[in-house]
Amino acid sequence: MKTKLTNAKCLTSSNELVSCEILIEDDKIVKTAPKVTEQADKTIDADNNLVVPGFIDVHIHLREPGGEYKETIATGTQSAARGGYTTVCNMPNTNPVPDSKDTLEKLLQKIKEDAVVRVLPYASITKGLKGEERTNIKELFEQGAFAFTDDGVGIQTANQMFQAMKEAAACGAAIVAHCEDNSLVYGGVTHDGEVSKRLNLPGIPSLSESVQIARDVLLAEAADCHYHVCHVSTKESVRVIRDAKRAGIKVTGEVSPHHLLLNETDVLENDADFKMNPPLRGKDDQEALIEGLLDGTLDFIATDHAPHGEEEKANGFLEAPFGIVGLETAFPLLYTHLVQKNVLSLHELIDRMTKKPADVFGLPYGTMEEGAPADLTILDLDKTAKIDRYQFASKGKNTPFHGWEVNGFPVMTIVNGEVVFKEDSHA
Ligand SMILES: [Zn+2]
Repeated sequence: MKTKLTNAKCLTSSNELVSCEILIEDDKIVKTAPKVTEQADKTIDADNNLVVPGFIDVHIHLREPGGEYKETIATGTQSAARGGYTTVCNMPNTNPVPDSKDTLEKLLQKIKEDAVVRVLPYASITKGLKGEERTNIKELFEQGAFAFTDDGVGIQTANQMFQAMKEAAACGAAIVAHCEDNSLVYGGVTHDGEVSKRLNLPGIPSLSESVQIARDVLLAEAADCHYHVCHVSTKESVRVIRDAKRAGIKVTGEVSPHHLLLNETDVLENDADFKMNPPLRGKDDQEALIEGLLDGTLDFIATDHAPHGEEEKANGFLEAPFGIVGLETAFPLLYTHLVQKNVLSLHELIDRMTKKPADVFGLPYGTMEEGAPADLTILDLDKTAKIDRYQFASKGKNTPFHGWEVNGFPVMTIVNGEVVFKEDSHA
């Protein structure tokens, strides 16, 4: 089966949009050229829009099994497809946790049945995310776990992390860390800064994150392990990662759209759609994250898509769970607020949503080179709309960006040569 994508624009590394056509054979890209002359069984007209490699998000929460009222593998991957994502990596804080051969097998099976985009599942570092007994990293990795993390909680003791890193390094797996030292959290619900004081909410100090990263980079050096830091939020964390990279330590880091675009001063009183972990930090932290993304200290962007029920989120800042959704808003928000404001070039943004995460984890995606899997996203950069949470495919409506007017939307998403999302108005 041959499919030809015609009438498209490709982005050059110097940020020029040039005419291109792409020939797909079954699930692979076989040719990208200004004009493809070969005949195909099917033609997709890109309508003069930009075609880029499908986005990759290594940090999302699909909630299934156990949290199906928040999200399912079906709804979460439909949300990913609408956001232009073709590969997503699912966090293991579900019930049960994928921490054994059996639970991972069931999850892989359910993904095969229900997912509309590629899902690579994490397995946990410790059984039940309890921080006590470690999982069998080698066995789970061979079975298909993408990498290992206890996301949602930090690994509290240095020895636990050190042993996990040595086991991961021995089989070539990565340790992916939500960094949070519980002894420095003090029951906080938002950043420990001027806004937490004004709103009289308990604050989460920046140190609770950065201290654990500082510990872990030294452990990663000793274990010779690829150590990846989730959702970096503080300027001190950026500095520690930058220094560690300079020292040759195998550390990588991600940053979320909300930490790039918002800071503590944006937090609206008692609106738990601004409650996430790590929290929105200070303005100087936000600036350090942008600088870190630009200079490569932070390798790429990941959404930390974390759907919750509306009732849970209506419980007020103290009681509501942490987290916001992100898959369907990431590209338009970042395009509008970073690219159109000349903070980042379009090529840099696409690179940090495609090639960079693929390179960091050795994935064959995030490229339109000949022979690559046919994962493509078509973007209408001229489309303007208000973010409307009630239009999301995700069950989660918990976003602080509802009502924001943004530009640039995915209009078609193709995974392995198959169209998995097509905007209604797009012929
Ligand atoms: Zn996390």
